[in-house]
Amino acid sequence: MTVFFKALLKSLFPQRCAYCGKVVSADEYACGDCRKILPRIEGEICSRCGRAKKECSCNGEKYFLSQAAPFCYEGVVRRGLHVFKFRNGRQNSEAYCYEMAETVRQRYADKKFDYIVPVPMTKKSVRRRGYNQVEILAEGLAELLGAEFRNDILFKIYETEKQHGISYILRKGNLTGVFDVPEPEKVRGKSVLLCDDISTSGETFNECAKMLWLADASEICCISLALTNPRKKNKSKK
Ligand SMILES: [Zn+2]
Ligand SMILES: [Zn+2]
Repeated sequence: MTVFFKALLKSLFPQRCAYCGKVVSADEYACGDCRKILPRIEGEICSRCGRAKKECSCNGEKYFLSQAAPFCYEGVVRRGLHVFKFRNGRQNSEAYCYEMAETVRQRYADKKFDYIVPVPMTKKSVRRRGYNQVEILAEGLAELLGAEFRNDILFKIYETEKQHGISYILRKGNLTGVFDVPEPEKVRGKSVLLCDDISTSGETFNECAKMLWLADASEICCISLALTNPRKKNKSKK
């Protein structure tokens, strides 16, 4: 989006809290109430799964080096993301990109990513929704980090059942062969930051990372806006 277009949009629509929708001043991303209760992942953090150490869910080897996220998928973050995903709340993305960029700067301070790659959706899902919320996040993040946004490397070939609703065992098998890197030379020797909105078990990231690893990407890390707590029963309605 051009600077002019952004300014125009801002003058037409008031800035809203990205978590509850309340009108806030133009330089704010969240209202005072939400800021106080944002479910940030804090304290001692596991460098592998990105969760607080007491909620660590690390299980086995992964094709990526590390996962990170600013938030737990609960409370106002869950609410905001739901609007963003299902009710065209694209305005929220600026706040989310800002938060993810901060997390990348802290957690991956020693890394320089060549490419920011969104976890892909099938063309059919994008058509159904009218937009690709993960690409919106990845593109905004790439801009903030000064890295290249690449949606021409990794593709989702066919639809799977929603990851949220199914058990861990099913989830693993459910993803095999779903993603593809048709032109591996595009990513050979490159360091990649994979981006998604929510990560549940890390299996989607892992399957994407596997394809990038097979294509000889030099390093693969992951960022999402939120991580579910694997110890809690997932009560998501989706
Ligand atoms: Zn709010
Ligand atoms: Zn862990």
